[in-house]
Amino acid sequence: MEYSHIIIRYGELTLKSGNRNEFLKKLTKNIRYNLKGLEGFHIQTKRDRMYIHLDSNKNVEQIMFKLKKVPGIHNFSPVLRAKLDVEDAKKVIDNLLQTKLDKEYTFKIQTKRPNKNFEFHTNELNNIFGSHVLINYKNLKVNVKQPDFVINVEVRSEGIFIFTDFIKGVGGFPVNTSSKALLLLSGGIDSPVAAHALQVKGVEVEMIHFQSPPFTSQEALQKIFDLTIKLSEVVGKIKLHVVNFTKLQTEIVKRIPSNYTMTSTRRFMLRIAEEVAYKEGCLAIATGESLGQVASQTLESMNCINEVTNLPVLRPLLTMDKVDIIKIAQDIDTLEISNLPFEDCCTIFTPKAPKTRPRLEKIKSYEARDDYSELIEETLASVKTYLFDKDGQVISKDISEDKVVKEDFSDLL
Ligand code: ATP
Ligand code: MG
Repeated sequence: MEYSHIIIRYGELTLKSGNRNEFLKKLTKNIRYNLKGLEGFHIQTKRDRMYIHLDSNKNVEQIMFKLKKVPGIHNFSPVLRAKLDVEDAKKVIDNLLQTKLDKEYTFKIQTKRPNKNFEFHTNELNNIFGSHVLINYKNLKVNVKQPDFVINVEVRSEGIFIFTDFIKGVGGFPVNTSSKALLLLSGGIDSPVAAHALQVKGVEVEMIHFQSPPFTSQEALQKIFDLTIKLSEVVGKIKLHVVNFTKLQTEIVKRIPSNYTMTSTRRFMLRIAEEVAYKEGCLAIATGESLGQVASQTLESMNCINEVTNLPVLRPLLTMDKVDIIKIAQDIDTLEISNLPFEDCCTIFTPKAPKTRPRLEKIKSYEARDDYSELIEETLASVKTYLFDKDGQVISKDISEDKVVKEDFSDLL
């Protein structure tokens, strides 16, 4: 089968009529970016749909594979083209039906006729093509209400377009059409999925990661780099801020009662993240938290953690089940990286019995015993910013520059 083009439908995007032009420009640019390196097509953007004209079918499978991942695409269909001639259209339908010979199916013909000059009307065309199929294919029966497949026929000035498949895209909006959020990226399964969920909604995501060398390894940091590179595939470039959290975290462990260290650690992470967010012009902070998964993810805990910031804290996975999160991690290819064993700072410092229902006044009074402002300043000064693109290139900093703090903290472990 030789496809002549792919029709791309926008779905949700069409609701945004005010910004539509800007959205379409972004979407076209993003599709171009994602198809970079593949040849044999050109893109035509229209108000209600986009056409990818195929000069050859050489790369069609790869093109479709990539399109499935581009935010802002609701669905798409590879299309066969016939001449403006019913006999030629019948031949193309025959071609299409070669994949439907294996068992009994129900079908219907759905004709549209934007080309009003064509000699037959919609109903006539439905009849012509419907009877052609019924006469020639004994395994196919008509079912108008719930057919197994629909043969879509569009009569246009360029020819008759014929297709059956609607391939689902990720939906949402084109990337980077909304403002920026700063996402707390850990090496776990959830936060990369949360980043993806925001990207699909058009939010530009910057990452912040807290590491505690030498407790956390270079491999754990490499994992964060790899996740960021993976997440940059669809969007182009992603900034990653790496915070050296060792000193602050070890002070928390020394000063705060052990059942509250987890809560306090999260509060300090958020305080640091807030500063970085302001500096970078991010309007929100985001996490991979999901309700009730672990001690730190109860409403009581979120209530205590949120208190330190005025920025909205977005939790795209809040109500999702772990199995569904894992499924998405698989789809976006982050699962394998997340499953690597290197631990991040939270896992290493996890207290034996973290409070599942921490109380705000308690944590506030524990933290009020000491002045942390200098430690916070020092930690902020440790932030290193990297810029990754899909080729994994570190544009702003060399990974090998990353020094490991060589102090002995073994008494804390
Ligand atoms: P994840 O799979 O994303 O690690 P999790 O279910 O393991 O999530 P936690 O470890 O409690 O949950 O972390 C909750 C959230 O806190 C993470 O989703 C992430 O957004 C943030 N977070 C945890 N540790 C770090 C870290 N070292 N650096 C940055 N963010 C972190
Ligand atoms: Mg985790």
